[in-house]
Amino acid sequence: MKIKYLFGAALLLLSASDMMAQQMQLPPIPVDKNVRVGKLSNGLTYYIRHNEFPKNVANFYIAQRVGSINENDNQRGLAHFLEHMAFNGSEHFKGNGIIEYTRTLGVAFGRNLNAYTSVDQTVYNICDVPTTRQTALDSCLLILKDWSNGLILEDKEINKERGVIHQEWQRSASAGMRFYEKYLPMLYPNSKYGHRLPIGLMDIIDNFKPKELRDYYKKWYRPDNQAIIVVGNVDVDHIEAEIKKLWSGVVVPANAAKVVDEKVPDTDQPIYVSYKDKEQQYTIIQMMMKHDVTPASEKTSVAYWVENYIKSMISNMLNARFMELGQNPDCPYVQAFAGDGTYLLSKTKDAFQSAVVPKEGKDIEAFDVLVREIHRARQFGFTETEYARAKSDYLSALEKKFTNKDKTENVYFYNQYVNHYLSNEPMPSIEDEYQMLNAIVPNIPVQAINEMAKQLISDKDSNLVVTEQEQEKEGKVYTPIENLRSTLESVRAEKLMPWVDNVKNEPLIAKLPTKGKIVKEKENKKLGYKKLTLSNGAKVILKKTDFKDDEILMQAYAKGGKNLFGEKDFANLKVFDYVVESQGLGNFSNTELTKALAGKQISANISVGLTHTNVSGSSTPKDLESMMQLVYLCFTKIGKDEKSYKSLISQLEIGLKNKDLQPESVFSDSLAISRYNHNPRFAPLDIKDLDKVNLDRILEMAGQLTGDAGQYTFIFTGNFDEAAIRPLLEQYIATIPGDPKARVEPGKDVIDLTTGELKNHFTRKMETPKAMLYTFWRSNLQDDNLENEVLADAAGQVLSMKFLRTIREDASAAYSVGASGFAQPNVNNDVYYIVYAGCPMDPAKAQQAYDLMMKGMTEAGEKVSAEDVQKVKEFMLKQADVNARKNGHWLNVINNVEEWGIDFQTDYKKTVEAITPEKISKFLKDIVLASGNKVEVMMEPEK
Ligand SMILES: [Zn+2]
Repeated sequence: MKIKYLFGAALLLLSASDMMAQQMQLPPIPVDKNVRVGKLSNGLTYYIRHNEFPKNVANFYIAQRVGSINENDNQRGLAHFLEHMAFNGSEHFKGNGIIEYTRTLGVAFGRNLNAYTSVDQTVYNICDVPTTRQTALDSCLLILKDWSNGLILEDKEINKERGVIHQEWQRSASAGMRFYEKYLPMLYPNSKYGHRLPIGLMDIIDNFKPKELRDYYKKWYRPDNQAIIVVGNVDVDHIEAEIKKLWSGVVVPANAAKVVDEKVPDTDQPIYVSYKDKEQQYTIIQMMMKHDVTPASEKTSVAYWVENYIKSMISNMLNARFMELGQNPDCPYVQAFAGDGTYLLSKTKDAFQSAVVPKEGKDIEAFDVLVREIHRARQFGFTETEYARAKSDYLSALEKKFTNKDKTENVYFYNQYVNHYLSNEPMPSIEDEYQMLNAIVPNIPVQAINEMAKQLISDKDSNLVVTEQEQEKEGKVYTPIENLRSTLESVRAEKLMPWVDNVKNEPLIAKLPTKGKIVKEKENKKLGYKKLTLSNGAKVILKKTDFKDDEILMQAYAKGGKNLFGEKDFANLKVFDYVVESQGLGNFSNTELTKALAGKQISANISVGLTHTNVSGSSTPKDLESMMQLVYLCFTKIGKDEKSYKSLISQLEIGLKNKDLQPESVFSDSLAISRYNHNPRFAPLDIKDLDKVNLDRILEMAGQLTGDAGQYTFIFTGNFDEAAIRPLLEQYIATIPGDPKARVEPGKDVIDLTTGELKNHFTRKMETPKAMLYTFWRSNLQDDNLENEVLADAAGQVLSMKFLRTIREDASAAYSVGASGFAQPNVNNDVYYIVYAGCPMDPAKAQQAYDLMMKGMTEAGEKVSAEDVQKVKEFMLKQADVNARKNGHWLNVINNVEEWGIDFQTDYKKTVEAITPEKISKFLKDIVLASGNKVEVMMEPEK
């Protein structure tokens, strides 16, 4: 690229102080040539891109640049209400026709077909549409057309939807939502943003006249406010012609209302807000320094990239400091964060924002540290070594994206285009972005970062916002908000010292072990993988794929997990994964390790399952050796890190202490206890457990679980070079010591599921009344086989469709309802087939929803809809093709073949094709319902 050289040179000359002045002279960001962008004379914009990852599917979107901010006072909530109505009848798709039609294509409502409404945008999507039939693609465009101006909006359907929206509001009601409902007006003085939460006002939702909704639709849904985005394996010319055909005739009225950006006025005085709520689990203090957004017109220049890069560096380095300080047991907070971004809801105002969650009773001390670190960064900036790490993280992420450029997913392009449409974000090709940023970034000195930190972090009261949300509780002593103000003022006046960055400069593994060998090889031709045996007895499976160019996944597993341990270790088992993850590796503490791994795209983790232990890892082809080193250390030397452990425990304490304040958390705990026969092994983690947790014991258990490499099978899938990986296996996997005595038995079968019928219906006091119901039906112990697994999955989906019609659409008794089926294996891989359904409900209609669920399940045992079954099959077949090109999917397939001798891949599609409605009913009746095992948990608000 020509531009590259010029550009590097230009930036080299920049010193920090004239950075801003120079920005005007930087070149524009080139627009990707592989997207067809156009605009019709009526203002409709479109973006079409051919893309083949995943193969044979396409995504369709319509974005409107309007949302709740465009509502009048008497329309609050209608932008979102309208979004719901888009699925309740249109010119070409009557009733729930859009949902039902797209299902025939294998497009699942909720998952592939969906929409969202925010303050300033409303976007609808139809995703993963199979591209085999052109007519199906044309129909999807017709759906977009109906959404754009063909909704019927019948009174009857509108009235039915009121209950669903009311449910959605109830379901989302939480301490955080109530905070916004109450205080947004104070946080946005003299701005409509203070009064436009998308969910709206319930008395408007319950009572508005249908005409209000039609008025909003007509006023704002117009081609000049809309963009069509199509990405996938499509014929671009054809799609463009269809768009022109469908939309050219749409006329925008001459006097059409303009979309005007809502301003957020600057404030001279600071805003301090304190909010108390009975269901607030822990205290959160936020501090925001408002500033103007980059004008849309300036986002086309490379200067905008530089600005974003610098902001991300500031956030990365400050958060690394917060993490490091958080490892200190005396640190007064459990978590702290800072970064630049949108001020709450408004696209016209940004803020440098920060937040802290204090330890119990340490509000002021925690806020003090937050403010001090932010002001330290303002006064002294960052060090060269911190910056070198942050920069290399950035460049390696950029390189990862570039490596995989030919296999970029549809959704990446969608995000680019929708942001380009709504806020003029740049849309370069990945190649250009990589080339240019790779030339620019190494030339941006740390002084430029420090200079911008000074600008973003304000030491003034103007545009300052501080909020504190805490639990309302009798007898609790509150810190007056005044004390936050005086803390801030005193830190501002303080003389701070620069940050000192400590780094450890030594290799991860001090002395490499003598290499082992590959001693045996076998091939699985059917599934296309090689199985190696190493000199220490470990098995290695290599499945090379070309699905993604930047990805290698690893999973190692061996028999024996939680079931090897008894009651005295229950608490240790519940936190095992977290604790091990909090530790260091080799001679590195957790913080030292994080620093040492800067610039590498890798991970490695140990986790203990009920019957197996897993070590999993991921990396790019470039960083494979580093990942192997981490895996080697996971097996041989977890570095005890007491500080990090203590910090983890105090985080868990804060999270668990008041978890019962949230009704949802009480409900899910009741569910677990009810399903698992009150067995303490399966009880959810409780604050009382923390007293019994012991770091040394957990490390001892980890040592036992990973003690014999010979019992492990390591599966690698992804883009590795076999010739390059073999010596790495000999160096890092064949050298993991094996002690066959460490763990030889698979452990006992400890699953303890409630047998027979259990009804757990209870009431509970809540701030916003809501009701919840979950029912689990399960079979007795059965052989695991492909057909039954497929039937369980299909049965769940068919029930989901049925309940959506009966409970949500017809009875308006729930905002969402779903069902699912799966197999839960025991230690011998015999399985329980489980089908469950659940929904948050309207408390007034809880009994009705309950009756419909029970009746629906019994009916399904006799007969299910043939049409529904056909739709489910389409979805499963489509999904099978998508999954067959995912590395994670192959880890599971290979694991099942090697560990249990069951091949879930080869005959999967054949088995799906053979599903009939009769088979599903028979499965539900004879296998699931016949057992008589049912657990139902229902929570209702206390009257
Ligand atoms: Zn909604």
